[in-house]
Amino acid sequence: MNCEICGAFEENLYKTEVEGAVMSLCKNCSKYGKVLGAPVHEIKQVQRTVESERQLKYDYINDIKHALQESGLSIEEVAERIKCSPKDLKKVVNSEMPPDKNITAKLERLLNISLYEINFVSDSTFKKDTEQLSFGDVVDIKKSKK
Ligand SMILES: [Zn+2]
Repeated sequence: MNCEICGAFEENLYKTEVEGAVMSLCKNCSKYGKVLGAPVHEIKQVQRTVESERQLKYDYINDIKHALQESGLSIEEVAERIKCSPKDLKKVVNSEMPPDKNITAKLERLLNISLYEINFVSDSTFKKDTEQLSFGDVVDIKKSKK
């Protein structure tokens, strides 16, 4: 972030009231006004890796069974196309075995279905984090006004 008066790049800027206007200023320039709070940290965006949050749908077996029926292909035919053993595929369809990621990815492509859903858990954690941060900022400002 840059100081709004001199333009210096600082990691931490001070919220400063200068002639009624609140500005983000570097330490040097903050002495031109009344500092309202602790240095403002730039909130770093949490990188979310959506791919790793993909998880199998609760009823993915039903989706596979349904798609198999629709396609009119037998387990053996599908197994041959996705290059896995019919035995393994049967186990997956009968929920005797959790499917290999490789198998589900190929099934998705072959049968034109989607077996995964995106898990939004980390999304809400991210929101909570920013809420806590902004709450902390408010407290800081109140404290320094006393
Ligand atoms: Zn400055």
